[in-house]
Amino acid sequence: MNETISSRPAVSDASLPLLSQAQPGAPFAILGLDEALVRALVSEGYELPTPVQRRAIPHVLDGRDVLACAQTGTGKTAAFVLPMLQRLAHNAATAASARLTSNGGQRRNGSSPRALVVAPTRELAAQIAERINAYGQFLSPRMGHTVIYGGVGQGSQEHALRNRPDIIVATPGRLLDLIGQGLVHLDAVEILVLDEADRMLDMGFLPDVKRIVQRTPRSRQTLLFSATIPTSIRSLASEFLKDPIEFAVAKLTPATATVSQTVWHVGSGPAEKRSLVKRLLEGATDRRAIVFTRTKRGANKVCEDLVAAGFIAGAIHGNKSQSARERVLDAFRKGTARVLVATDLAARGIDVDDVGLVVNYDLPEVAESYVHRIGRAGRAGNTGHAVSFCDPEERGLLTQIEKLLRTRIPVAGSSVGAAATPDAIAAVTSGGGGTSGDRQQHGNNGGSNSRPSARDARRPLTRNPSSRRRRSKCPAPAS
Ligand code: AMP
Repeated sequence: MNETISSRPAVSDASLPLLSQAQPGAPFAILGLDEALVRALVSEGYELPTPVQRRAIPHVLDGRDVLACAQTGTGKTAAFVLPMLQRLAHNAATAASARLTSNGGQRRNGSSPRALVVAPTRELAAQIAERINAYGQFLSPRMGHTVIYGGVGQGSQEHALRNRPDIIVATPGRLLDLIGQGLVHLDAVEILVLDEADRMLDMGFLPDVKRIVQRTPRSRQTLLFSATIPTSIRSLASEFLKDPIEFAVAKLTPATATVSQTVWHVGSGPAEKRSLVKRLLEGATDRRAIVFTRTKRGANKVCEDLVAAGFIAGAIHGNKSQSARERVLDAFRKGTARVLVATDLAARGIDVDDVGLVVNYDLPEVAESYVHRIGRAGRAGNTGHAVSFCDPEERGLLTQIEKLLRTRIPVAGSSVGAAATPDAIAAVTSGGGGTSGDRQQHGNNGGSNSRPSARDARRPLTRNPSSRRRRSKCPAPAS
Protein backbone atom coordinates (compact mmCIF):
# COMPACT_ATOMS: atom_id res chain seq x y z
CA MET A 1 0.00 0.00 0.00
CA ASN A 2 1.45 3.29 -0.97
CA GLU A 3 0.70 5.46 2.01
CA THR A 4 2.90 8.51 2.23
CA ILE A 5 3.61 10.86 5.06
CA SER A 6 1.15 13.63 5.76
CA SER A 7 2.34 17.03 6.85
CA ARG A 8 0.27 16.63 10.00
CA PRO A 9 1.64 15.02 13.15
CA ALA A 10 1.47 11.26 13.26
CA VAL A 11 -0.71 9.79 15.97
CA SER A 12 0.56 6.57 17.41
CA ASP A 13 -2.00 4.02 18.49
CA ALA A 14 -0.38 3.84 21.88
CA SER A 15 -0.76 7.55 22.53
CA LEU A 16 -4.47 7.67 21.73
CA PRO A 17 -5.94 6.27 24.95
CA LEU A 18 -3.79 8.69 26.96
CA LEU A 19 -4.98 11.58 24.85
CA SER A 20 -8.60 10.56 25.31
CA GLN A 21 -8.14 10.76 29.05
CA ALA A 22 -6.45 14.15 28.82
CA GLN A 23 -9.30 16.08 27.23
CA PRO A 24 -12.47 15.03 25.46
CA GLY A 25 -11.92 15.21 21.72
CA ALA A 26 -8.12 15.53 21.93
CA PRO A 27 -7.46 12.44 19.77
CA PHE A 28 -9.56 14.02 17.00
CA ALA A 29 -8.02 17.47 17.39
CA ILE A 30 -4.56 16.01 16.88
CA LEU A 31 -5.64 14.71 13.48
CA GLY A 32 -6.06 18.37 12.51
CA LEU A 33 -9.81 18.77 12.94
CA ASP A 34 -11.23 22.13 13.98
CA GLU A 35 -12.84 22.74 17.33
CA ALA A 36 -16.40 22.89 15.92
CA LEU A 37 -16.06 19.41 14.44
CA VAL A 38 -14.35 17.99 17.51
CA ARG A 39 -17.20 19.34 19.63
CA ALA A 40 -19.69 17.49 17.48
CA LEU A 41 -17.74 14.24 17.90
CA VAL A 42 -17.62 14.68 21.65
CA SER A 43 -21.36 15.27 21.67
CA GLU A 44 -21.78 12.08 19.63
CA GLY A 45 -19.92 10.30 22.41
CA TYR A 46 -16.93 9.31 20.25
CA GLU A 47 -13.72 8.98 22.23
CA LEU A 48 -11.15 7.68 19.77
CA PRO A 49 -10.85 7.86 16.00
CA THR A 50 -11.25 4.51 14.28
CA PRO A 51 -8.38 3.21 12.11
CA VAL A 52 -9.94 4.46 8.87
CA GLN A 53 -10.41 7.90 10.42
CA ARG A 54 -6.83 8.00 11.68
CA ARG A 55 -5.52 7.11 8.26
CA ALA A 56 -7.78 9.20 6.06
CA ILE A 57 -8.46 12.45 7.89
CA PRO A 58 -4.97 14.03 7.89
CA HIS A 59 -4.48 13.28 4.19
CA VAL A 60 -7.90 14.53 3.15
CA LEU A 61 -7.26 17.72 5.11
CA ASP A 62 -4.03 18.07 3.14
CA GLY A 63 -6.01 17.92 -0.09
CA ARG A 64 -4.85 14.49 -1.20
CA ASP A 65 -6.93 12.01 -3.19
CA VAL A 66 -7.68 8.83 -1.25
CA LEU A 67 -8.39 5.26 -2.26
CA ALA A 68 -9.56 3.46 0.87
CA CYS A 69 -10.54 -0.14 1.26
CA ALA A 70 -12.94 0.03 4.18
CA GLN A 71 -16.32 -1.43 4.71
CA THR A 72 -19.37 -0.20 6.50
CA GLY A 73 -19.10 -0.32 10.28
CA THR A 74 -15.52 0.91 10.35
CA GLY A 75 -16.40 4.59 10.75
CA LYS A 76 -15.65 5.38 7.10
CA THR A 77 -18.43 7.96 6.77
CA ALA A 78 -16.84 10.21 9.37
CA ALA A 79 -13.47 9.58 7.71
CA PHE A 80 -14.60 11.51 4.64
CA VAL A 81 -17.36 13.75 6.00
CA LEU A 82 -15.26 15.43 8.72
CA PRO A 83 -12.32 16.60 6.59
CA MET A 84 -14.68 17.43 3.72
CA LEU A 85 -16.66 19.78 5.98
CA GLN A 86 -13.47 21.38 7.24
CA ARG A 87 -12.02 21.97 3.80
CA LEU A 88 -15.29 23.43 2.54
CA ALA A 89 -15.50 25.70 5.58
CA HIS A 90 -11.91 26.93 5.13
CA ASN A 91 -12.38 27.69 1.45
CA ALA A 92 -15.85 29.15 1.79
CA ALA A 93 -15.07 32.74 0.86
CA THR A 94 -13.13 32.04 -2.32
CA ALA A 95 -15.62 29.47 -3.46
CA ALA A 96 -18.75 31.58 -3.12
CA SER A 97 -18.10 33.90 -6.03
CA ALA A 98 -16.69 31.15 -8.20
CA ARG A 99 -19.88 29.11 -7.89
CA LEU A 100 -22.15 31.88 -9.00
CA THR A 101 -20.07 32.59 -12.05
CA SER A 102 -18.69 29.21 -13.02
CA ASN A 103 -20.68 29.41 -16.24
CA GLY A 104 -18.48 31.89 -18.04
CA GLY A 105 -19.20 34.69 -15.59
CA GLN A 106 -22.98 34.41 -15.90
CA ARG A 107 -25.16 33.82 -12.88
CA ARG A 108 -27.40 30.92 -13.81
CA ASN A 109 -30.18 28.72 -12.54
CA GLY A 110 -29.59 25.39 -10.92
CA SER A 111 -27.51 24.25 -8.02
CA SER A 112 -23.70 24.06 -8.14
CA PRO A 113 -22.53 22.07 -5.12
CA ARG A 114 -18.97 22.35 -3.86
CA ALA A 115 -18.93 18.75 -2.72
CA LEU A 116 -20.67 15.72 -4.15
CA VAL A 117 -21.03 12.35 -2.43
CA VAL A 118 -22.26 9.55 -4.68
CA ALA A 119 -23.61 6.42 -2.98
CA PRO A 120 -25.29 3.27 -4.30
CA THR A 121 -28.57 3.27 -2.38
CA ARG A 122 -31.01 5.79 -1.08
CA GLU A 123 -30.69 4.42 2.44
CA LEU A 124 -26.96 4.94 2.42
CA ALA A 125 -27.33 8.40 0.86
CA ALA A 126 -29.82 9.37 3.58
CA GLN A 127 -27.50 8.06 6.30
CA ILE A 128 -24.57 10.06 4.95
CA ALA A 129 -26.69 13.20 4.85
CA GLU A 130 -27.75 12.57 8.42
CA ARG A 131 -24.08 12.24 9.45
CA ILE A 132 -23.22 15.51 7.65
CA ASN A 133 -25.91 17.13 9.72
CA ALA A 134 -24.61 15.65 12.97
CA TYR A 135 -20.92 16.33 12.38
CA GLY A 136 -21.53 19.82 11.02
CA GLN A 137 -23.91 20.93 13.74
CA PHE A 138 -21.51 23.43 15.36
CA LEU A 139 -20.06 24.92 12.17
CA SER A 140 -20.78 28.56 11.69
CA PRO A 141 -22.16 29.20 9.18
CA ARG A 142 -23.53 25.69 8.76
CA MET A 143 -22.85 23.81 5.57
CA GLY A 144 -25.99 23.48 3.44
CA HIS A 145 -26.60 20.01 2.14
CA THR A 146 -29.30 17.97 0.50
CA VAL A 147 -29.87 14.38 -0.47
CA ILE A 148 -31.09 13.22 -3.86
CA TYR A 149 -32.34 9.76 -4.76
CA GLY A 150 -34.82 8.09 -7.03
CA GLY A 151 -38.03 6.27 -6.23
CA VAL A 152 -39.71 9.36 -4.82
CA GLY A 153 -41.20 12.47 -6.40
CA GLN A 154 -38.73 15.05 -7.62
CA GLY A 155 -40.58 18.10 -6.26
CA SER A 156 -39.10 18.33 -2.79
CA GLN A 157 -35.59 17.69 -4.12
CA GLU A 158 -36.01 20.49 -6.69
CA HIS A 159 -37.15 22.72 -3.89
CA ALA A 160 -34.12 21.86 -1.74
CA LEU A 161 -31.80 22.53 -4.69
CA ARG A 162 -33.11 26.09 -4.91
CA ASN A 163 -31.30 26.74 -1.61
CA ARG A 164 -28.04 26.07 -3.46
CA PRO A 165 -26.61 23.50 -1.04
CA ASP A 166 -22.85 23.30 -0.58
CA ILE A 167 -23.00 19.51 -0.50
CA ILE A 168 -25.15 17.09 -2.47
CA VAL A 169 -25.38 13.43 -1.48
CA ALA A 170 -26.91 11.46 -4.32
CA THR A 171 -27.55 8.13 -5.93
CA PRO A 172 -26.37 8.12 -9.55
CA GLY A 173 -29.62 7.78 -11.53
CA ARG A 174 -31.61 10.64 -10.06
CA LEU A 175 -28.55 12.87 -10.00
CA LEU A 176 -28.10 12.41 -13.75
CA ASP A 177 -31.80 13.12 -14.31
CA LEU A 178 -31.49 16.42 -12.47
CA ILE A 179 -28.29 17.29 -14.28
CA GLY A 180 -30.08 16.60 -17.57
CA GLN A 181 -32.82 19.01 -16.56
CA GLY A 182 -30.28 21.74 -15.79
CA LEU A 183 -31.11 21.67 -12.09
CA VAL A 184 -27.65 20.57 -10.96
CA HIS A 185 -24.26 21.62 -12.35
CA LEU A 186 -21.10 19.84 -11.29
CA ASP A 187 -18.51 22.32 -12.55
CA ALA A 188 -17.93 23.86 -9.11
CA VAL A 189 -17.29 20.55 -7.34
CA GLU A 190 -14.14 20.77 -5.23
CA ILE A 191 -14.49 17.42 -3.48
CA LEU A 192 -15.99 14.27 -4.96
CA VAL A 193 -16.63 11.19 -2.82
CA LEU A 194 -17.53 7.81 -4.31
CA ASP A 195 -18.79 5.73 -1.40
CA GLU A 196 -19.21 1.95 -1.54
CA ALA A 197 -17.84 2.09 -5.05
CA ASP A 198 -17.68 -1.70 -5.42
CA ARG A 199 -21.39 -1.92 -4.70
CA MET A 200 -22.13 0.79 -7.26
CA LEU A 201 -20.29 -1.23 -9.86
CA ASP A 202 -22.07 -4.44 -8.78
CA MET A 203 -25.35 -2.63 -9.29
CA GLY A 204 -24.42 -1.65 -12.84
CA PHE A 205 -23.80 2.03 -12.12
CA LEU A 206 -20.36 2.17 -13.74
CA PRO A 207 -21.50 4.13 -16.85
CA ASP A 208 -23.50 6.53 -14.67
CA VAL A 209 -20.60 7.02 -12.28
CA LYS A 210 -18.27 7.77 -15.19
CA ARG A 211 -20.68 10.30 -16.66
CA ILE A 212 -20.96 12.00 -13.29
CA VAL A 213 -17.22 12.15 -12.67
CA GLN A 214 -16.59 13.51 -16.16
CA ARG A 215 -18.83 16.47 -15.39
CA THR A 216 -16.75 17.53 -12.40
CA PRO A 217 -13.62 19.67 -12.75
CA ARG A 218 -10.29 17.86 -13.14
CA SER A 219 -8.92 19.98 -10.32
CA ARG A 220 -11.27 18.33 -7.80
CA GLN A 221 -10.15 16.23 -4.83
CA THR A 222 -11.45 12.67 -5.16
CA LEU A 223 -12.05 10.18 -2.35
CA LEU A 224 -13.00 6.64 -3.22
CA PHE A 225 -14.20 4.24 -0.52
CA SER A 226 -14.86 0.63 -1.29
CA ALA A 227 -15.30 -2.53 0.77
CA THR A 228 -13.18 -4.42 -1.74
CA ILE A 229 -10.71 -3.32 -4.41
CA PRO A 230 -11.28 -5.60 -7.41
CA THR A 231 -9.69 -4.81 -10.78
CA SER A 232 -12.71 -2.77 -11.87
CA ILE A 233 -12.29 -0.42 -8.89
CA ARG A 234 -8.57 -0.17 -9.46
CA SER A 235 -9.08 0.89 -13.06
CA LEU A 236 -11.77 3.41 -12.02
CA ALA A 237 -9.29 4.77 -9.48
CA SER A 238 -6.46 5.03 -11.99
CA GLU A 239 -8.77 6.89 -14.37
CA PHE A 240 -10.13 9.38 -11.84
CA LEU A 241 -7.76 9.70 -8.88
CA LYS A 242 -4.53 11.68 -8.87
CA ASP A 243 -1.62 10.12 -7.00
CA PRO A 244 -3.91 8.83 -4.27
CA ILE A 245 -3.03 7.83 -0.75
CA GLU A 246 -4.07 4.22 -0.65
CA PHE A 247 -4.77 2.08 2.37
CA ALA A 248 -6.92 -0.74 3.61
CA VAL A 249 -8.34 -1.10 7.07
CA ALA A 250 -8.74 -4.64 8.26
CA LYS A 251 -11.13 -6.09 5.76
CA LEU A 252 -13.24 -8.46 7.73
CA THR A 253 -12.20 -7.90 11.29
CA PRO A 254 -14.68 -5.14 12.16
CA ALA A 255 -17.49 -7.66 11.87
CA THR A 256 -15.68 -10.83 12.73
CA ALA A 257 -13.96 -9.36 15.74
CA THR A 258 -17.10 -8.14 17.39
CA VAL A 259 -19.73 -10.53 16.08
CA SER A 260 -19.78 -14.16 17.15
CA GLN A 261 -21.00 -16.44 14.38
CA THR A 262 -22.68 -19.81 14.26
CA VAL A 263 -24.40 -21.87 11.61
CA TRP A 264 -27.48 -24.11 11.96
CA HIS A 265 -27.94 -26.90 9.49
CA VAL A 266 -31.63 -27.29 8.77
CA GLY A 267 -33.61 -29.59 6.53
CA SER A 268 -35.11 -28.67 3.16
CA GLY A 269 -38.40 -26.81 3.17
CA PRO A 270 -39.43 -23.81 5.23
CA ALA A 271 -40.66 -25.49 8.43
CA GLU A 272 -37.41 -25.66 10.38
CA LYS A 273 -36.27 -22.18 9.47
CA ARG A 274 -39.65 -20.76 10.44
CA SER A 275 -39.61 -22.42 13.80
CA LEU A 276 -35.96 -21.73 14.59
CA VAL A 277 -36.09 -18.01 13.80
CA LYS A 278 -38.90 -17.55 16.31
CA ARG A 279 -37.06 -19.45 18.98
CA LEU A 280 -33.93 -17.43 18.43
CA LEU A 281 -35.82 -14.15 18.61
CA GLU A 282 -37.59 -15.24 21.77
CA GLY A 283 -34.24 -16.02 23.33
CA ALA A 284 -32.71 -12.78 22.11
CA THR A 285 -31.93 -9.95 24.44
CA ASP A 286 -33.52 -6.54 24.48
CA ARG A 287 -31.31 -5.47 21.58
CA ARG A 288 -32.58 -5.27 18.03
CA ALA A 289 -32.46 -8.12 15.55
CA ILE A 290 -32.24 -8.14 11.75
CA VAL A 291 -33.40 -11.17 9.77
CA PHE A 292 -32.01 -11.40 6.23
CA THR A 293 -33.80 -13.16 3.42
CA ARG A 294 -32.66 -13.61 -0.15
CA THR A 295 -35.82 -12.43 -1.89
CA LYS A 296 -38.36 -9.67 -1.43
CA ARG A 297 -41.14 -12.23 -1.33
CA GLY A 298 -39.24 -14.16 1.29
CA ALA A 299 -38.87 -11.01 3.39
CA ASN A 300 -42.62 -10.42 3.27
CA LYS A 301 -43.41 -14.01 4.17
CA VAL A 302 -41.00 -14.17 7.09
CA CYS A 303 -42.21 -10.84 8.38
CA GLU A 304 -45.87 -11.86 8.13
CA ASP A 305 -45.08 -15.04 9.95
CA LEU A 306 -43.29 -13.21 12.76
CA VAL A 307 -46.06 -10.66 13.11
CA ALA A 308 -48.64 -13.45 13.25
CA ALA A 309 -46.59 -15.04 16.01
CA GLY A 310 -46.69 -11.81 18.01
CA PHE A 311 -43.35 -10.21 17.18
CA ILE A 312 -43.27 -6.54 16.37
CA ALA A 313 -41.48 -6.70 13.07
CA GLY A 314 -41.24 -4.72 9.84
CA ALA A 315 -39.86 -5.57 6.42
CA ILE A 316 -37.82 -3.48 4.01
CA HIS A 317 -36.97 -4.36 0.45
CA GLY A 318 -36.85 -2.81 -2.97
CA ASN A 319 -40.58 -3.22 -3.68
CA LYS A 320 -41.60 -1.09 -0.72
CA SER A 321 -42.23 2.58 -1.29
CA GLN A 322 -39.66 4.96 0.11
CA SER A 323 -42.08 6.23 2.75
CA ALA A 324 -42.93 2.68 3.87
CA ARG A 325 -39.23 1.87 4.17
CA GLU A 326 -38.57 5.02 6.12
CA ARG A 327 -41.44 4.27 8.51
CA VAL A 328 -40.10 0.80 9.18
CA LEU A 329 -36.53 2.00 9.64
CA ASP A 330 -37.66 4.78 11.92
CA ALA A 331 -39.59 2.34 14.12
CA PHE A 332 -36.56 0.05 14.19
CA ARG A 333 -34.27 2.89 15.14
CA LYS A 334 -36.56 4.03 17.91
CA GLY A 335 -36.95 0.50 19.18
CA THR A 336 -40.71 0.37 18.57
CA ALA A 337 -40.02 -2.53 16.23
CA ARG A 338 -37.28 -4.81 17.48
CA VAL A 339 -37.12 -7.04 14.44
CA LEU A 340 -36.31 -5.90 10.93
CA VAL A 341 -36.65 -8.32 8.03
CA ALA A 342 -34.58 -7.19 5.08
CA THR A 343 -33.06 -8.11 1.76
CA ASP A 344 -29.40 -7.30 1.16
CA LEU A 345 -29.86 -4.28 -1.00
CA ALA A 346 -32.39 -2.61 1.25
CA ALA A 347 -30.13 -3.20 4.23
CA ARG A 348 -27.19 -1.29 2.80
CA GLY A 349 -26.51 1.77 4.85
CA ILE A 350 -28.74 0.88 7.76
CA ASP A 351 -26.94 2.59 10.56
CA VAL A 352 -28.43 1.41 13.82
CA ASP A 353 -25.92 0.89 16.57
CA ASP A 354 -27.60 -1.50 18.95
CA VAL A 355 -28.28 -4.51 16.74
CA GLY A 356 -27.52 -7.55 18.87
CA LEU A 357 -28.57 -10.38 16.58
CA VAL A 358 -28.37 -10.94 12.84
CA VAL A 359 -30.17 -13.99 11.50
CA ASN A 360 -29.26 -15.16 8.01
CA TYR A 361 -32.58 -16.84 7.32
CA ASP A 362 -31.29 -17.50 3.83
CA LEU A 363 -27.59 -17.44 3.03
CA PRO A 364 -26.65 -14.72 0.56
CA GLU A 365 -25.80 -15.58 -3.05
CA VAL A 366 -22.68 -13.44 -2.89
CA ALA A 367 -20.32 -14.39 -0.07
CA GLU A 368 -19.28 -10.80 0.58
CA SER A 369 -22.86 -9.89 1.42
CA TYR A 370 -22.47 -12.15 4.43
CA VAL A 371 -19.83 -9.80 5.81
CA HIS A 372 -22.02 -6.77 5.16
CA ARG A 373 -24.93 -8.49 6.85
CA ILE A 374 -23.16 -9.50 10.01
CA GLY A 375 -21.55 -6.06 10.11
CA ARG A 376 -25.02 -4.72 10.98
CA ALA A 377 -24.38 -6.12 14.45
CA GLY A 378 -21.32 -5.25 16.45
CA ARG A 379 -21.28 -1.63 15.30
CA ALA A 380 -19.71 1.23 17.16
CA GLY A 381 -17.84 -1.01 19.54
CA ASN A 382 -20.78 -3.21 20.54
CA THR A 383 -20.72 -6.97 20.33
CA GLY A 384 -23.32 -9.04 18.53
CA HIS A 385 -24.19 -12.47 17.22
CA ALA A 386 -24.86 -13.77 13.75
CA VAL A 387 -26.73 -17.01 13.23
CA SER A 388 -26.95 -18.50 9.75
CA PHE A 389 -29.44 -21.11 8.65
CA CYS A 390 -28.13 -23.49 6.05
CA ASP A 391 -30.35 -25.99 4.27
CA PRO A 392 -28.91 -28.72 2.02
CA GLU A 393 -29.27 -26.51 -1.09
CA GLU A 394 -27.28 -23.74 0.58
CA ARG A 395 -24.22 -25.81 1.48
CA GLY A 396 -22.27 -24.47 -1.50
CA LEU A 397 -22.98 -20.90 -0.42
CA LEU A 398 -21.72 -21.69 3.07
CA THR A 399 -18.51 -23.07 1.60
CA GLN A 400 -18.00 -19.83 -0.35
CA ILE A 401 -18.52 -17.77 2.79
CA GLU A 402 -16.10 -19.85 4.82
CA LYS A 403 -13.55 -19.56 2.02
CA LEU A 404 -13.87 -15.80 2.10
CA LEU A 405 -13.61 -15.70 5.90
CA ARG A 406 -10.79 -18.23 5.81
CA THR A 407 -12.38 -19.97 8.76
CA ARG A 408 -15.06 -22.52 9.53
CA ILE A 409 -18.15 -21.12 11.19
CA PRO A 410 -18.95 -23.27 14.22
CA VAL A 411 -22.07 -25.39 13.91
CA ALA A 412 -24.58 -24.65 16.66
CA GLY A 413 -27.10 -27.28 15.69
CA SER A 414 -28.13 -29.57 12.92
CA SER A 415 -31.88 -29.59 13.21
CA VAL A 416 -34.54 -27.85 15.22
CA GLY A 417 -35.92 -30.97 16.77
CA ALA A 418 -32.67 -32.58 17.78
CA ALA A 419 -30.08 -29.99 18.57
CA ALA A 420 -31.86 -26.67 19.03
CA THR A 421 -32.42 -27.18 22.70
CA PRO A 422 -33.20 -24.15 24.87
CA ASP A 423 -29.63 -24.30 26.14
CA ALA A 424 -28.21 -24.26 22.63
CA ILE A 425 -30.42 -21.30 21.70
CA ALA A 426 -29.41 -19.42 24.84
CA ALA A 427 -25.76 -20.13 24.06
CA VAL A 428 -26.18 -18.53 20.64
CA THR A 429 -28.16 -15.54 21.74
CA SER A 430 -25.89 -14.83 24.70
CA GLY A 431 -22.80 -15.07 22.54
CA GLY A 432 -21.40 -18.40 23.62
CA GLY A 433 -20.20 -21.03 21.24
CA GLY A 434 -19.58 -18.89 18.20
CA THR A 435 -16.48 -17.76 16.42
CA SER A 436 -15.38 -14.25 17.18
CA GLY A 437 -12.24 -12.28 17.48
CA ASP A 438 -10.79 -10.30 20.27
CA ARG A 439 -13.85 -8.09 20.81
CA GLN A 440 -11.74 -5.00 20.76
CA GLN A 441 -13.78 -1.88 20.99
CA HIS A 442 -13.38 1.54 19.59
CA GLY A 443 -15.03 4.59 20.90
CA ASN A 444 -17.99 4.63 23.17
CA ASN A 445 -20.91 2.32 23.71
CA GLY A 446 -19.00 -0.32 25.49
CA GLY A 447 -21.59 -2.96 24.76
CA SER A 448 -22.72 -3.08 28.36
CA ASN A 449 -26.14 -4.31 27.41
CA SER A 450 -24.98 -7.04 25.11
CA ARG A 451 -25.31 -9.78 27.70
CA PRO A 452 -28.79 -10.48 28.97
CA SER A 453 -29.50 -11.29 32.55
CA ALA A 454 -30.92 -14.75 33.07
CA ARG A 455 -34.35 -13.21 33.44
CA ASP A 456 -33.98 -11.11 30.28
CA ALA A 457 -32.96 -14.17 28.33
CA ARG A 458 -36.24 -15.83 29.16
CA ARG A 459 -38.38 -12.77 28.60
CA PRO A 460 -39.69 -12.54 25.03
CA LEU A 461 -39.03 -8.84 24.65
CA THR A 462 -39.78 -8.78 20.95
CA ARG A 463 -43.29 -10.07 21.38
CA ASN A 464 -46.52 -8.22 21.30
CA PRO A 465 -48.96 -10.59 23.02
CA SER A 466 -52.05 -8.82 21.78
CA SER A 467 -51.18 -9.57 18.16
CA ARG A 468 -50.25 -13.16 18.80
CA ARG A 469 -52.99 -14.81 16.81
CA ARG A 470 -53.50 -12.12 14.24
CA ARG A 471 -52.72 -13.01 10.62
CA SER A 472 -51.39 -9.90 9.14
CA LYS A 473 -49.82 -8.47 6.06
CA CYS A 474 -46.51 -7.16 7.24
CA PRO A 475 -47.36 -3.59 8.24
CA ALA A 476 -45.05 -0.69 8.87
CA PRO A 477 -44.97 -0.60 12.66
CA ALA A 478 -46.10 2.63 14.26
CA SER A 479 -43.10 4.76 15.01
P1 AMP B 1 -19.76 3.73 9.21
O1 AMP B 1 -18.67 2.75 8.97
O2 AMP B 1 -19.43 5.08 8.70
O3 AMP B 1 -21.07 3.20 8.69
O4 AMP B 1 -19.91 3.93 10.81
C1 AMP B 1 -20.30 2.91 11.68
C2 AMP B 1 -20.78 3.39 13.02
O5 AMP B 1 -19.68 3.81 13.83
C3 AMP B 1 -21.73 4.57 12.99
O6 AMP B 1 -22.80 4.25 13.84
C4 AMP B 1 -20.96 5.74 13.56
O7 AMP B 1 -21.80 6.61 14.27
C5 AMP B 1 -19.99 5.03 14.49
N1 AMP B 1 -18.70 5.73 14.63
C6 AMP B 1 -18.00 6.36 13.66
N2 AMP B 1 -16.86 6.84 14.15
C7 AMP B 1 -16.81 6.50 15.46
C8 AMP B 1 -15.86 6.69 16.50
N3 AMP B 1 -14.72 7.34 16.28
N4 AMP B 1 -16.17 6.21 17.72
C9 AMP B 1 -17.32 5.54 17.95
N5 AMP B 1 -18.26 5.30 17.00
C10 AMP B 1 -17.99 5.77 15.77
